[in-house]
Amino acid sequence: MIINNSLDEVKKREKALSIIKNIVENKGREFLHDLTGLSGGFIASPSELSLLETYVGPAIFEDALQEVGIAHMGGEKVLPLNRTSSGILAAILTLVKEDSNVVHYLAELPAHPSIPRSCKLVGANYFETDVFDEFTIPDNTSLVVITGSTMDHKVIDEGEFKKVIEMAHERGIPVMVDDASGARLRTVVFNQAKACDLGADIAITSTDKLMPGPRGGLMAGRKDLIDEIKIKVNQFGLEAQPPAVLAMLNGIENFNEDNLINSFDRKDQLFDLLSSKFNNFKKTPTGVMITPEDLAKEINIPHNLSDNDLAFIFSFIILKDYGIITIPAVGMPGASATIRFDLSTSDAFNLDLKDLTKKIESSFEKLLDVITNEEKCREIVF
Ligand SMILES: *Cc1c(COP(=O)(O)O)cnc(C)c1O
Repeated sequence: MIINNSLDEVKKREKALSIIKNIVENKGREFLHDLTGLSGGFIASPSELSLLETYVGPAIFEDALQEVGIAHMGGEKVLPLNRTSSGILAAILTLVKEDSNVVHYLAELPAHPSIPRSCKLVGANYFETDVFDEFTIPDNTSLVVITGSTMDHKVIDEGEFKKVIEMAHERGIPVMVDDASGARLRTVVFNQAKACDLGADIAITSTDKLMPGPRGGLMAGRKDLIDEIKIKVNQFGLEAQPPAVLAMLNGIENFNEDNLINSFDRKDQLFDLLSSKFNNFKKTPTGVMITPEDLAKEINIPHNLSDNDLAFIFSFIILKDYGIITIPAVGMPGASATIRFDLSTSDAFNLDLKDLTKKIESSFEKLLDVITNEEKCREIVF
């Protein structure tokens, strides 16, 4: 095993960022192709940048974000956060009591790790399932969680979404929706309603997923709950700072639904190209992916690597040789090691899909060449 713990993941991430820096400095930004679907950005005009002072910034941009954020997310009030994970933590610190239960329904396991980790921190009992018929709400439940679209972009059924909210509300329990990518994916590609319009008490989205915004979280929902959560957010420094708030505002305003819909069509083409060589790629709504387990199935040479190791090494080879950024290389500890080639953000728009397929195939050949050499694999990842 190459990657054994969170420290290893931090180290491999540092290595990935140094490869990216190297490519930008020695070749140029145009030699990088960010296909993570989280390629975010920082849209801001010089006049806006000049207002980025500690108190002036929030006065202007947080106010503007209320209107734009509510139009995007629904609800009565929005709260900008450092990350989606920060919002999830703050909501759980606020709403969940020690020894109470938190139950979570999602279309496919695993949940984002920030949810079980936050429950652990407050000493709550956490239950999750992706089998709708097994979802129940026990006594002494303080929060019901729904994930709108998982880390691998598996989208919940809207009927089940409504039913879970109904079950929670019958018992007076608040519902938090982790809509990190779902706030756009569900609504634009699957024509579902906004989480708050379906009755969620709070919903959180990630402002760099499938939109041109910065890494950050935007929470929306009932004003009374948002106000309570905001206290915790400020106490623990989980709020978004003025530069991020400005970029969130402009990111939402520049969010283009057509880009998501185009990628929805183009992914079929990429999938067909890849399927002439591979058996285990799968479609996502806006691209293709291969899970670590499925990647392992593509390989019939004996080796001692874990499935996740294979995904990390593959991701590093694609990055180093072709400047293609995928999540396993750059992701935070605990992020999914699934390799996704997402076609919804700007670096993908002009990409020749045949050329991309060739690069993926040749990186895979290189992976096969190194997997029996553990030392070489370590060198690639660290
Ligand atoms: C990305 C993601 C998160 C976390 O977002 P961060 O900005 O990394 O905190 C939470 N939940 C889901 C479903 C995600 O996809």
